[in-house]
Amino acid sequence: MSRYYDVIVVGTGPAGLAAGSSLAEMGIRVLTLDEQHRVGGQIYRKVETASDSTLRIMGEDYSRGLNLAERFHNSGAEYEGGATVWNVESDGRVAYSRNGKSQEVQAGYVIIATGAMERPVPLPGWTLPGVMGAGAANNLAKEANLIPAGPAVLAGSGPLLLLEASLLIKKGVRISAILETTAKTPSVKLLPPVVSALRRADFLFKGLQMLRDIRKAGIPHYKGVTEICALGEDRVDSVEATVNGSKKAFPANLLLLHFGVIPNVHIFRLLGCAMQWNSEQRYWYPICDRWGRTNFERIFAAGDGAGVRGALAAEYRGEIAGLEIARCLGLLPAYERDALAAPILTAMNRDALPRPFIDAMYAPEIKGKYFKDETVLCRCENIKVADVRKVVKEGVREVNEVKIITRCGMGPCQGRMCGPALAEIVAAEVDASPEQVGMLTVRPPLKLVPLGEIAEMEIENASQGQADIFKNMKK
Ligand SMILES: Cc1cc2nc3c(=O)[nH]c(=O)nc-3n(C[C@H](O)[C@H](O)[C@H](O)COP(=O)(O)OP(=O)(O)OC[C@H]3O[C@@H](n4cnc5c(N)ncnc54)[C@H](O)[C@@H]3O)c2cc1C
Repeated sequence: MSRYYDVIVVGTGPAGLAAGSSLAEMGIRVLTLDEQHRVGGQIYRKVETASDSTLRIMGEDYSRGLNLAERFHNSGAEYEGGATVWNVESDGRVAYSRNGKSQEVQAGYVIIATGAMERPVPLPGWTLPGVMGAGAANNLAKEANLIPAGPAVLAGSGPLLLLEASLLIKKGVRISAILETTAKTPSVKLLPPVVSALRRADFLFKGLQMLRDIRKAGIPHYKGVTEICALGEDRVDSVEATVNGSKKAFPANLLLLHFGVIPNVHIFRLLGCAMQWNSEQRYWYPICDRWGRTNFERIFAAGDGAGVRGALAAEYRGEIAGLEIARCLGLLPAYERDALAAPILTAMNRDALPRPFIDAMYAPEIKGKYFKDETVLCRCENIKVADVRKVVKEGVREVNEVKIITRCGMGPCQGRMCGPALAEIVAAEVDASPEQVGMLTVRPPLKLVPLGEIAEMEIENASQGQADIFKNMKK
């Protein structure tokens, strides 16, 4: 028989930890699953076992994860690490793989707190060894204390790029250049949001501090950079870009790319949740009410997976979802839920003050025409940008048709790496928006799971369960 919980939380980043803790503290039976082996999510990755020097270098924002993790472990919530969720049904059934075995659990409510991922931007040479995401380098530092030898180049746009640069400087890594695609001259559009950001001096100070670290280290830092490409035979040995109107090359055995983060929405798409396109930030996110409830009564969204707003907001949104579920389970009357939510919402509004400024400052400008014909778009199936443009010129108009014809998005990553760029390319070719050309269909299993593992899975009502697992195939 499937194990039954009141609530299953997928993800133990700040959102999942806050949601799981608050529900378990109220006596609700909670199971929390995460594919990582320790709690913390992206920002607080491995915080519980971090050395003093890592805690010092990563700073206060990282150490905050210690309190969250401690609260979670004391809350009574059940936790399974190394648990990859590969299917969620709208009736509260969740299938996951752990230690080579898949199983199904059921809950009254499911909170999906799967966070964000770096926006993948295919550019020439991005498949060479030595090219990786800046967030991935940040993860390796937290996970295994790996420090790159350098010389490194950091390229792209967004606060995490500057954060990673200042962390590498503190570790003494040689950085050849920081190549920002962000406009050289700030747009007038930044004026209104800067006013509200000014009310968060602490936030602005952090940004200025990162820029000061970079300037003090004497690292060439360019803005308005275009035409970035990684060069090398067997691995990257230099990075070329157009800087101030002319081509420039920088020595590098590591190119760290970062073009902002986008919600990790695969579970919502798998479920068939109603989604919305954010045309400023150019990403999809699930439509939710103010408590994080999706269009499915039992399915809630919390944290960056429901729209990127950062770690603190993720924590608050986890608490808020928890309060509403406690009300649904009859533990809190509405007035008490509202009273408990009020201070959280106030803190959330204060935290959000700089967000319009960050969003406007780093609004992604990477659209379809940006991608070069010869660039590998789908690295799993080795499909180039030109292959996609060719089928669009032949009359294909929708991303799933492109997928079927070219195999773009059909490999092991299931479109996680190529999907966003594919939509931009198709949209530009047919003079539409990515919203109009659609999203790649997501089917279970969401992540790679051996078929034998699925076949061996115990399902309470085998015929019904199996039919449901493959239900999305009909879409
Ligand atoms: C690579 C990367 C590094 C980042 N580093 C920083 C940083 O140093 N500082 C900073 O301020 N912000 C950082 N961010 C932004 C930061 O992730 C968020 O603001 C914050 O962590 C959001 O919290 P969350 O709880 O919504 O999600 P997350 O912290 O991302 O947690 C989501 C959790 O869900 C789990 N998960 C996802 N899918 C599944 C699945 N199918 N099955 C099981 N578990 C799953 C993940 O393993 C993860 O632990 C980073 C983002 C990324 C993508």
